[in-house]
Amino acid sequence: MTFVNAKEWLSGRALQTKLFINGEFVDGLKGETIPVLNPYDNSRICDIAAADADDVDLAVAAAKDAFPAWSRMDPSDRGHLLLKLADAIEANAEELIVLEAIDTGHPVRDARKLDLPRTARCYRYFGGMSDKYEGFLPPVYPGFLNYVQREPIGVVGQIVPWNFPLMFTSWKMGPALAAGNTLVIKPSELTPLSTLRIAELMREVGFPKGVVNVVPGYGQTAGARLANHPDVKKIAFTGSTATGRRIVEASAGNLKKVQLELGGKGPNIIFEDANIAAAVGGSAWAIFHNQGQACIAGSRILVHEKVMDAFVEKFSALAKSIRLGNPLDPQTEMGPLTSKQHQERVLYYADVARQEGGEIITGGKTPASDELASGCFVEPTIVRAKASDRVNQEEVFGPFATIMSFKADEEALAAANGVAYGLGSGLWTSNLQRAHRFARDIKAGMVWINSYKVVHPGSPFGGVGESGYGREMGFEAMHEYTQPKSVWVNFDAVVPPHYER
Ligand code: NAD
Repeated sequence: MTFVNAKEWLSGRALQTKLFINGEFVDGLKGETIPVLNPYDNSRICDIAAADADDVDLAVAAAKDAFPAWSRMDPSDRGHLLLKLADAIEANAEELIVLEAIDTGHPVRDARKLDLPRTARCYRYFGGMSDKYEGFLPPVYPGFLNYVQREPIGVVGQIVPWNFPLMFTSWKMGPALAAGNTLVIKPSELTPLSTLRIAELMREVGFPKGVVNVVPGYGQTAGARLANHPDVKKIAFTGSTATGRRIVEASAGNLKKVQLELGGKGPNIIFEDANIAAAVGGSAWAIFHNQGQACIAGSRILVHEKVMDAFVEKFSALAKSIRLGNPLDPQTEMGPLTSKQHQERVLYYADVARQEGGEIITGGKTPASDELASGCFVEPTIVRAKASDRVNQEEVFGPFATIMSFKADEEALAAANGVAYGLGSGLWTSNLQRAHRFARDIKAGMVWINSYKVVHPGSPFGGVGESGYGREMGFEAMHEYTQPKSVWVNFDAVVPPHYER
């Protein structure tokens, strides 16, 4: 791919900027808009319509009307639409890659290698799942047949953050639709563009109106209404732990089913018998990919004291060599953070580390380059800090790794488990017994052994503790988006239950 120029690419291109309700792209009822910025230089890409509570009500009503027909549609036909969507995504790959790059700051080389194919794969996986997800027959009393069918829940509300909008909307919409739910999805106000383009593609491939509705808008208005709406029967949320708590409170009115994918503070443990070259590359991937804006990021690196010096030397050399630049440049390895506000937050944590006596091994500041001065860049940062320091306890959500040393396995395990979160985790060792022991004992939803941050639509994704509950992906996601109904048939019971008279 050649180096696309954002201004030229945008000139004369009609981006979709409206709300998608009941199969139509419409302005918000109040006519309010939100500016969408390119974090590379903070230039304005476009203004999008902002959904308010009344718009969400219309979207929920449309999804409610569409539910009976969609939920009773031949599951194979539902799945076929998801398969067609996956094809359409691949057919429009370059456009979606550029859109994601200018909206979020993802380097195109990552978007092409990961976001785009993972998105298509996810829709395809759940497209295939639609007519294969089965109920079951518990072996019950003689003379009774008991069958359990999995029913869709109804109208589902989905709220996604700004870090992987293209991919995360597929993780949410794929299983919800395959299971027969209709939905209203709220992308982040910062990064709504790929979701709106996907809505256009859904319309093109023939999704019936009202099945999917997209309401970009602010969390306090559109998000909050979705979370407390009485006709929304389930809310699936990905975002910060603080907002997750609000979602739980807001959902209490009608006792919605809640699924929460929240923050993380992933431990990444390097043992003395690790392949250091692999651990260095894998650890850099774990924390620096997508500028560290990943809930599963390996943000706390625990290194055995025997290999500490060798690891730090190679790891910091790699961090310093990462090419920061325009996400649209195919050579760029790290783009800007997604917003100015978030850049400030990450830089704030560098100050916190300094104040707490941490040693900034590299980074902790914006790059010196004039070319990058107007963007939301932060240099890859490595900080030596104590386990109890705030930078080792709070989610920074940036290209910001902490490093600590340990002597014994128990010490590493205690440090790994010494935070409120429990999402991603990794360990690097050649000792098979230790690897499995840690996999058993680590408090996390996912453990990567001699790798990090591998995901697949077939494998459950989610966390424990303050990282939330519920799982995306695989059969687990289908369970999340359905409810079991148990049906009892008396076909031969000699004495069915009855009152003696
Ligand atoms: P955020 O919680 O600020 O926002 C997430 C979404 O919630 C946005 O769409 C936002 O508009 C909406 N929102 C905000 N306030 C709301 C409210 N009161 N009611 C309803 N919706 C509201 O999070 P963020 O800053 O966009 O994303 C970063 C966070 O997401 C990090 O903590 C990260 O770890 C987490 N995250 C978790 C996962 C996971 O799978 N566990 C994945 C990615 C990101």
